[in-house]
Amino acid sequence: MTNKARLISGDTPTGKLHLGHWVGSLENRVLLQKEYECFFFVANVQGFTTRMEEPQIVYQNALEIVTDYLACGIDPEIATIFIQSEVPAMAELAHFFSMLVPLPRLMRNPTIKDEIRNKGLSDNYSIGFLMYPVTQIADILTFRAEVVPVGEDQEPHMELTREVARRFNQLYCGVNSHTEDADYIKAGGLFPIPQTKLGRTKRLVGTGAPTAEGQLLKMSKSLNNAIFLSDPPDVIRQKIMAMFTDPNRLRATDPGKVENNPLWIFHDTFNPDKVWIEEAKDKYRKGQIGDVDCKKRLIEILIELLKPMQERRKLFEKDKHAVLTILRDGTERANQAAEETLRLAKKAMSQAYFKRDLRLTEL
Ligand code: ATP
Ligand code: MG
Repeated sequence: MTNKARLISGDTPTGKLHLGHWVGSLENRVLLQKEYECFFFVANVQGFTTRMEEPQIVYQNALEIVTDYLACGIDPEIATIFIQSEVPAMAELAHFFSMLVPLPRLMRNPTIKDEIRNKGLSDNYSIGFLMYPVTQIADILTFRAEVVPVGEDQEPHMELTREVARRFNQLYCGVNSHTEDADYIKAGGLFPIPQTKLGRTKRLVGTGAPTAEGQLLKMSKSLNNAIFLSDPPDVIRQKIMAMFTDPNRLRATDPGKVENNPLWIFHDTFNPDKVWIEEAKDKYRKGQIGDVDCKKRLIEILIELLKPMQERRKLFEKDKHAVLTILRDGTERANQAAEETLRLAKKAMSQAYFKRDLRLTEL
């Protein structure tokens, strides 16, 4: 254990990691892994909120995500990579925290509303689906993290996390309700009030068409609109060539719209050549450059960005045992940190009865 502040972030194993994860969160995780004590986890229990009928797929994707972490430069010697379901303290704290979250407050959460609509859950969502923001609160607070690198869609969950952290500290640790967020630990609280660290693109759009209301959907594993970090060059080529741009532009000589156009959102996000972008946008508006040329340029840039990740990925893809060992070692470390928080939380809540030891062994 170090004296560094803690950082946590995770991903649901509903698919492999994509470019939205990279710019929204992963890039920051890689950049910050030396500065903070980092915990990165695969949220396999949360995976069941929408994939409860496909448990093998959740298992496969969990290992794919760990492989993606290693591929994109997360160093398991520095950062702790773990699996949610083998850290029981998170589930136990989630249960206690659920008492501090009013249900109507949860139902006003805009991300929950978006997900119910965009993932086609209509009125069939489970109690477990509604619990997921609560388990997310526990994911963060169990590690007493101060920083959470996530995409913009997670901000409503972060706000809820801060509310629960304040409430717990006030109720069970005697912290005065007028305390500034930054001073909760000094004032005797158990949980720091965590801050969101947004990526350089807060919400990357997907490659698909907008909704009937004209809203471009975020790139998401579940929406079939993602470019995965592990997509080979020909798949990237095919996805970008088929990507949605300006629907009113039928020929390269038609004036094109740059705003709200995924092609240009992608260039702005990934193309380091800002001069080229400005010139090409100008030509695009005037009908002097084709979609195909701009897409070709983007394809080259994305292939180049992903190449080193894919080379590293190949080393781990062949060695499932190495991936599982990294996951087990990380989960062991995560349990040490988590059990300590749970013990302190139980003490604060006057529920300290016994001590316990947790140990993981091979199957
Ligand atoms: P699902 O479709 O199953 O919800 P997802 O693609 O939204 O999957 P998550 O596992 O829910 O991915 O999100 C993991 C992290 O990546 C979160 O911090 C989330 O904010 C971030 N993230 C996901 N998609 C994007 C995106 N398009 N742009 C920026 N950040 C993103
Ligand atoms: Mg999501």
